[in-house]
Amino acid sequence: MADTLFFTRALLPEGWADNVLLTCEHGVIHSVRHDAPPPPAGISGAVALPGLASLHSHTFQRAMAGLAETRGPSSDSFWSWRQVMYRFLGLLDPEDVEAIAAFAFMEMLEAGFTAVGEFHYLHHDRTGNPYADRAELAGRIVAAAGTSGIGLTLLPVFYAHGGFGAVPAHEGQRRFLNDLDGFQRLVEGARTALLALPGARLGIAPHSLRAVAPDELQALLAAWSEGPVHIHIAEQVKEVEDCIAWSGRRPVEWLFDHVAVDDRWCLVHATHLNEAETRHLAESGAVAGLCPITEANLGDGTFRLAEYMARGGRFGVGTDSNVEISAPGELRQLEYSQRLAHRARNVSAMAEGDSTGGTLYRAALAGGAQALAQPVAGLQVGQRADIVCLAADHPDLVAATADRHVDGYVFCAGRAAIDQVYVGGTRLVEGGRHRGHAAIANRYKDTIRKLAGR
Ligand SMILES: [Zn+2]
Repeated sequence: MADTLFFTRALLPEGWADNVLLTCEHGVIHSVRHDAPPPPAGISGAVALPGLASLHSHTFQRAMAGLAETRGPSSDSFWSWRQVMYRFLGLLDPEDVEAIAAFAFMEMLEAGFTAVGEFHYLHHDRTGNPYADRAELAGRIVAAAGTSGIGLTLLPVFYAHGGFGAVPAHEGQRRFLNDLDGFQRLVEGARTALLALPGARLGIAPHSLRAVAPDELQALLAAWSEGPVHIHIAEQVKEVEDCIAWSGRRPVEWLFDHVAVDDRWCLVHATHLNEAETRHLAESGAVAGLCPITEANLGDGTFRLAEYMARGGRFGVGTDSNVEISAPGELRQLEYSQRLAHRARNVSAMAEGDSTGGTLYRAALAGGAQALAQPVAGLQVGQRADIVCLAADHPDLVAATADRHVDGYVFCAGRAAIDQVYVGGTRLVEGGRHRGHAAIANRYKDTIRKLAGR
């Protein structure tokens, strides 16, 4: 771990600065100086950005990327994709889960993410029975995070039902299910597993209003009064319609009517909001967990970003299904979805002269840090030294100044501009490649070949 890092340019909370010297203690930034002379050890990197968090991921889905892109007998949707996902996850053993997670986490690091919120709902064995260690698969996620070096907030998922009104779960959901007692033991096991991972955080995730009954949601919130709370909500039109049929309320309306939603909360997707729901969410201090690439892949719909941002709403981005892992790619897709919906350009930039990439990057940085309860809100004292360093001589960045670096990264170069990535001051990626790339990728490819034959 480096105690001193020096960058020729860096994005600091107060703006861009030249010749930035960071000192770190135990991976945490201890001092920040700009216009500093290079230290004897020389220059660490060219253009330093604070690392973004992927606030929503299901790592196992990385291994089914590309397997659900063939048209079925009727019109395809989220729900037909979910059937493919259920068949696929029925094949996975614990070592498969770990190999896939390590590969996905490594790709996140190579693609500009330094922390991840793993919304972990695959709990039981292939027949649906708990493992002898109820937190076996949570432990595999923790081990994979350790192998990759990424910052982890683990979000064990409570999942009990197959639809609104406590409809019984079906066969494809057998590996997810817990009652409240089983979930308590799972979370305690996950807490123990996380002790092995410095800086890790623990939250909880009631899966959705489909999978969690109202009394169960209240019991979860009573039992865990601290730490992040993440929930999938209003991703699909059918989900909104089913929620209205069940309760007379839309999902986000129902949540705000029944629960005190505050800055502990991350509402994942929140795609289908009306004007009042958009206002309530923005005013609550909660984070909207947007997953633009997955939402586009699944045909979910478009978040009301411009209205939400105009009301000061907080958001971050997540890689969710991990069909394509890219921090700049998520921000680009987010902006492009807005351009297509509004038939306008630079929708996310709030004022004349604002950089769109810079606006999105700063917002996703703050929202991701809040949603994951991780000290990754920027290059300042007390925050972890999580840094994405871009190559200043990339063709899209050679003449860049200030936020044009972020625009070039987000809209043109993408992850190809990434030179180095640090987590807690430790350099994990160099020349765009993770230091454990070959071993992690080989293990992943062996796993995929094995699963293909299963
Ligand atoms: Zn999800």
